[in-house]
Amino acid sequence: MKKSIHQLWHNAWATILVEMSDQEIGWLIRARNHISLLERRRTTMIVSRVRLVAGLFALLTPLWIVVDVAAFPRQVWLPLVIARIVATLGFSAIMLAAPRMHSMRDAYRALAMLMGIPTAFFLFSHQHMAQFQLEGIQAAFSTGYAFLPFVMLAGLSIFPLTLLEACAFISPLLLMELVGGIMRVAVLDWPTFAASFWLMLLIAGVSTLAGLSQLAFIIVLVREAIRDGMTGCFSRQSGEELMELQFILANRSGTPLTAVFIDLDRFKAVNDKFGHDAGDRVIVGAADAIKAQLRMGDMLTRWGGEEFILIMPNTTAPMACKALLRVRDLGFGTRPDGERVTASIGVAERIRDGAEDWRQLVEFADQRMYTAKQGGRDRVVGCDD
Ligand code: GH3
Ligand code: MG
Ligand code: MG
Repeated sequence: MKKSIHQLWHNAWATILVEMSDQEIGWLIRARNHISLLERRRTTMIVSRVRLVAGLFALLTPLWIVVDVAAFPRQVWLPLVIARIVATLGFSAIMLAAPRMHSMRDAYRALAMLMGIPTAFFLFSHQHMAQFQLEGIQAAFSTGYAFLPFVMLAGLSIFPLTLLEACAFISPLLLMELVGGIMRVAVLDWPTFAASFWLMLLIAGVSTLAGLSQLAFIIVLVREAIRDGMTGCFSRQSGEELMELQFILANRSGTPLTAVFIDLDRFKAVNDKFGHDAGDRVIVGAADAIKAQLRMGDMLTRWGGEEFILIMPNTTAPMACKALLRVRDLGFGTRPDGERVTASIGVAERIRDGAEDWRQLVEFADQRMYTAKQGGRDRVVGCDD
């Protein structure tokens, strides 16, 4: 019984979060372990949407001045108009600063400001309007101001936020509403207050789901961009990002970092003799053979057609060579005619070769791979100190 409930629960989640791994579900909950590619995409998306909304508000906020002036007496509209001008300046400032925002921290700050300005405006207008006994159409317009928190909660739905981030941005708004209620406790109409708070909770829930579903969509896109569909290795783009990151980390901690260039030998002949599909299978077989001998933390990238780059963090050249000679002994798979697939391999290590950046490290490995080709193929170059 317990087992079948567990199974049902698991299936339900699997259906909702179609094909998401545990790691990816974790990414939906919090941002701490997001990989750099995901973080970058999300930053651009959040910043560009903050900019869009700030621009829209910078336009609409002053336009409403006409309505305020027409609807209210002077002592009501004058402070509102000043508040609107201040808010407009704030929105414009966010809009102008957006092109210079590149990190997730910038994105958080921009979003917090985007939420903060209407919140401040709401608190001010709420306090201000409460001083007057407004009737008829004036009362109708003044009630309009009370909708601002709802609009802000609904607006959050356009941002691809994690569950924790959504909670962090939503809770101040809910808290504000609660504190507002408590402050008016003597005159509060409880049923109305409870109904409007319930509505806020519902909108907050829907916004959070909308944000999560956008985030899930980005995660799937990033996943597809990360991996090469044929071999399951990292794609060239993500391989370059990984290498850049690993190089910076190794440099900072003073640890070795080995890059290995692997190019299959006389591969064109496989295509020519057995066709492209057979060629593809040989590439997949070679990738599998390499992956089978890797340690945790080693990263295999499909650099081009039948070329791979292996990144080995915290690995010296002799350590890498030991692993590579093992791969070479076991072979890179077989061709359709049963012949062994061989490869020419170049090894470069950050400290030993004095590489200044990851591109130079790859360049060294590439040159040695070429030397291996010239030396007769099926060999590893770069192993002797
Ligand atoms: P060598 O490296 O030993 O000098 O000879 P090679 O024949 O492997 O050299 P080259 O780099 O010139 O040939 C690579 C060939 O790989 C050319 C291209 O037709 C083929 N190729 C590139 N990408 C793919 C792919 O995705 N699938 C298949 N089947 N072939 C590919
Ligand atoms: Mg090649
Ligand atoms: Mg080749």
